[in-house]
Amino acid sequence: MQKQEILKKYFGYTNFREGQEILVDSILRGQDTLGIMPTGAGKSVCYQVPALMLSGITVVISPLISLMKDQVSSLNQAGIHAAYINSSLTENQIKKAMEYAIKGQYKIIYVAPERLETYEFINFAQNAEISMVTVDEAHCISQWGQDFRPSYLKIVSFVKGLRKRPIISAFTATATEQVKEDIICVLGLSNPQVLVSGFDRKNLYFSVEKPKSKDRFIVDYIEKHKDDSGIIYCATRKNVEKVCEILEKSNVPAAKYHAGMDNHTRNENQEDFIYDRKPVMVATNAFGMGIDKSNVRFVIHYNMPQSMENYYQEAGRAGRDGEDSECILLYSGQDLIINRFLIENKEIKNEDMRDNYKIIQTHDEMRLQQMNRYCLTKDCLRGYILQYFGEHSKIRCENCSNCQREYKEEDKTEEALQIIECVREMRGRYGINVVAGTLNGASRAKLREYHVEKFNAYGAMKSYNEDEIKQIINEMIEAGYLMVTQDKYALVKLGVHAQDLTEKNTGFVMKYAVASETEKTDTESGAGKHRTRKSDVLNGRGLELFEQLRRLRTEIAKEEGVPPYIVFSDKTLVEMCAEIPFNREEMMRVAGVGENKFNKYGKRFIDEIFSFTNGIKEKTYFGERAVLFADNEISSYQSSMKRKTRRKSSEKSPFFINSQQAEAFPYKERYLVTELAVALTEISDKEAVKKLTGADIFRYVIGEGWADEIYIEGRRKKVIYEMGKTAGLVMGIRISKKETEYEDIYYTEHAQKLIVAHYTRAD
Ligand code: ADP
Repeated sequence: MQKQEILKKYFGYTNFREGQEILVDSILRGQDTLGIMPTGAGKSVCYQVPALMLSGITVVISPLISLMKDQVSSLNQAGIHAAYINSSLTENQIKKAMEYAIKGQYKIIYVAPERLETYEFINFAQNAEISMVTVDEAHCISQWGQDFRPSYLKIVSFVKGLRKRPIISAFTATATEQVKEDIICVLGLSNPQVLVSGFDRKNLYFSVEKPKSKDRFIVDYIEKHKDDSGIIYCATRKNVEKVCEILEKSNVPAAKYHAGMDNHTRNENQEDFIYDRKPVMVATNAFGMGIDKSNVRFVIHYNMPQSMENYYQEAGRAGRDGEDSECILLYSGQDLIINRFLIENKEIKNEDMRDNYKIIQTHDEMRLQQMNRYCLTKDCLRGYILQYFGEHSKIRCENCSNCQREYKEEDKTEEALQIIECVREMRGRYGINVVAGTLNGASRAKLREYHVEKFNAYGAMKSYNEDEIKQIINEMIEAGYLMVTQDKYALVKLGVHAQDLTEKNTGFVMKYAVASETEKTDTESGAGKHRTRKSDVLNGRGLELFEQLRRLRTEIAKEEGVPPYIVFSDKTLVEMCAEIPFNREEMMRVAGVGENKFNKYGKRFIDEIFSFTNGIKEKTYFGERAVLFADNEISSYQSSMKRKTRRKSSEKSPFFINSQQAEAFPYKERYLVTELAVALTEISDKEAVKKLTGADIFRYVIGEGWADEIYIEGRRKKVIYEMGKTAGLVMGIRISKKETEYEDIYYTEHAQKLIVAHYTRAD
């Protein structure tokens, strides 16, 4: 059978996702393979499809028992013979599994790394045909990763002991160069195909919030998402207990999970969450590795995690089924202090690593600072993540809190020069608190101890409070005018671009968030604005059917003793509701319905659908059918739905002018985008329509492919493309308050006409 047929038959998918096919092909060529993809990108398919095509057995080494159990349940459901062997089984069960394995009953066997040393397993492996050894969560082999597991080192000698060297494939979501090199080197991959891909999870909305009360935020958010399943991550056990208690008081069924609880309770709580008995899980980072629950709709971080790797892995547990989901990080300055404390007091369990304690701490601090910058940046959050993981990105994704926030720009060149002067005078020997305190002219014990009053810069920015000064410093770090040392002292020094500001007069413009109308009217959380469900494509009848199919799924899940999402994902059920399949052929067209699942459940679902619709194909969805079934287009369809919903939520309509108003537009030789927005707003019916902003116009301009904002050598810059030039955009020089020059886009009369036409609605 061909790979494509296997994908459809067993997994129910018609197409491979980005990167999957390359990895599958490389394994089938017999080449060692390393796949680096984020959680939820679909790593399992990359080795499971070839495993079914190779002549012998595939041994998958996986660190977590829960992960194996879930994977094997899914495979068995799909009709693939697979088993796991780990300490959760009794001696007798292990014996039985080994017996079957020797008889060649399984195509795929999951084992914990510790198992590779046992006599029974070695004996089996040496006498069986092992075509491939797959190392899942392969970063566990790297001493530089955060999850180093000494037992992973045993894989190498296990492979060496086999009669014939199998293909080795390794998969991880951790992409740092060091970890990647370690995996290749320690596992001894020979001329491997390495693929880093798919870090962009388009269905995830990213947001950083700084609420006055995190507890209030959580309660409000959950209140608005009653039917949704989600995870709340906290930095400490104490916070887990506290948040869980708050939720319970608000009558939210929440489970909790942290390392201080006994195994039995933890497992029970985990199952409550996985089987949808309790929709919310409050946990430390001890929870989640290997949790495959596909319908997690939100992941909220109550505290900032210690690194972007941790964050993306944890946040990535949202929306594995491809449905829109939210990843919200609740930030407060305190989080940095908590994490620094945790890093400094980190217990290093492994002997070998004790000698390198200092290096490990420096790496941890570096990662923490990068994490902190994610929380402070005003640029696109998705862009920040993708750049961090080494992928190219656009400047704006329009699907994160930063892209959706409106900013106003202010020239802060003078302040920036003052700060540079201060850092220079201090010779970069102090951290941000001392620098800000000095500039503000504060007098507290620490500052007196350092005699900061002797600096010329002392009190030079008296009219600003310290938080404002820190905000400017952080922006300057982001722009490369300043830098912080990557150790626990985090000293502020001059950055690589400092000279541009002091000598080349580049100017420094800062962005400030402006509360948008929706933010003002919404609750603090802004919850629910950014996400539509896959089921939003369904109309009233479609939704009724969806609920019915969900009930049937729960019934089957109970009968089979598996979590509901293992039977069919929500996404698959929605597609069934839209397709209304009455026979095998139609049912098999639904993504997620493979042959085995069809044989097991197909008839029950068809019967349910048939009786609901009385055998009549009715239209159960909004919009065009064609867009529903193109995998990636669902989200674009949803985005357009989302825009429509937002319009409804506000009393004013989105900005437009009528043709009479358009005629009154005061054309000029050139406008800046913000001026253009003001001029358009002025001629509109302000009572009826929302205000137009410069950001709105620029979004349109980007969408038209006229211009964009990109990073060049780490700095943001506006660029005009050929089409933009034709449309009448020109680059011009602006002069800042400090009389420094910088570039910006001007809209000539031709461009003004096009923009006016765009906003003019036919009467
Ligand atoms: P990872 O191991 O990378 O975290 P999984 O292997 O658990 O991700 O896959 C995440 C989800 O994506 C699963 O629900 C899986 O069934 C689905 N998936 C994988 N490959 C495809 C594909 N080609 N088309 C559609 N869905 C897919």
